[in-house]
Formats: sequence, structure tokens, C-alpha cells
Amino acid sequence: MDLKRLFLKANNDLESADGKSSARKIVCKKCKKRIAVSRIRNNHFVCPECGHYFQVRARRRILMLTDRRSFIETDRELS
Ligand SMILES: [Zn+2]
Repeated sequence: MDLKRLFLKANNDLESADGKSSARKIVCKKCKKRIAVSRIRNNHFVCPECGHYFQVRARRRILMLTDRRSFIETDRELS
């Protein structure tokens, strides 16, 4: 068994949506409202109706927190 695959998460619906499918809607787990993916993305992955934080993968979180091209990954083999 490949251990690296064991820890891979399934694709996040929000993050995998490309520009063409941004009119797609998903249901918020907290308020149960159907919200356009584009609205959630524009609100930094927080539900604009109730404030629920949607799950964001590590790479996306780094992009949100750092200046463009300023992040330098070190010790990649530690994970
Ligand atoms: Zn919500």
C-alpha cells in the first residue's frame, strides 16, 4: 500500500470548481442554504449567510495568507 495515498483527501468541491462552473451552488453544512460557489470563493471560503468556514486545503490556505510568490517551502520531506 502506498502510504502517501492514504493521507490524500478527496477533492474539495469548492476548490476544484473552475471558472466555468462558478454558477454552481452547494449547500452550507451549517445554515443549509444553497449558495453559489463564486459567492463563497469571493468571501474567502466563508459562508456569506452564516459565517461557516468551509474546509480549505493547505496549498490554498498558504496562497490566502502569504504575498504572491513570497512563500518558500522548506523541509518538504518532513511531511
Ligand atoms: Zn451557511
